[in-house]
Amino acid sequence: MLLGASFGLTLKLMFVGHFAIAFLLWRVFPQVPLPVYLVAVSFPDLLWSVLVPAGIEKVTINPDSPLQKLVVFERFPYSHSLLLGNVWSLIAGFIVAGLLNNTLVILVFVACSASHWILDTVVHLKDLPVLGFDGDTKIGLGLWRRGGVAFVVEIAFYVTVSAFTLSGFPLLYALIIGGVFHGVNANSFLGFSKKNSVKSSNAYAGLALLGFTAFTILASVLVD
Ligand SMILES: [Zn+2]
Repeated sequence: MLLGASFGLTLKLMFVGHFAIAFLLWRVFPQVPLPVYLVAVSFPDLLWSVLVPAGIEKVTINPDSPLQKLVVFERFPYSHSLLLGNVWSLIAGFIVAGLLNNTLVILVFVACSASHWILDTVVHLKDLPVLGFDGDTKIGLGLWRRGGVAFVVEIAFYVTVSAFTLSGFPLLYALIIGGVFHGVNANSFLGFSKKNSVKSSNAYAGLALLGFTAFTILASVLVD
């Protein structure tokens, strides 16, 4: 059932792994509400999901395969470089901190956003820019090349960190939501289907936006 759903809804991004860091940092600094952490760890991908349809960042999907390793992230310096990406997260952090009247939010936002880049370097092929300017060094350890291993490592990381930081019903709900979303994403790690159900880069970006928003709303309600 879940694997069937994945044929239409693969996210082709690191997903639940980022949210594990949100739970961990929330445990360390509970003065900041959980939804801020959930949005902040997703921030680079949320920004990316807007910049792709805007034509500012560029990604190309493979029509003949759903696999993550065949997605080509040609250009995403604003959302996914360590330096420039964190300049935007610093600005977003200042805005959210002002709205919530809590200066700790600035630190939280940048830490969460930086954690996104660090986790992405584990799975991405050599496409993550460091500074975000032309001629930049690009890095990535490429765990996505081994889809089965990447699938297991990401969910194991999520379950371990969640179990370490949550307990009772919040933990149970976190494990259920994480398991469902990771299961839906299985096709992009394991390649069950011969064709790619996502037909364009804009659809790919839209699915990412939908996925991160849905997880953030569910976790804000159920895990908090
Ligand atoms: Zn990302």
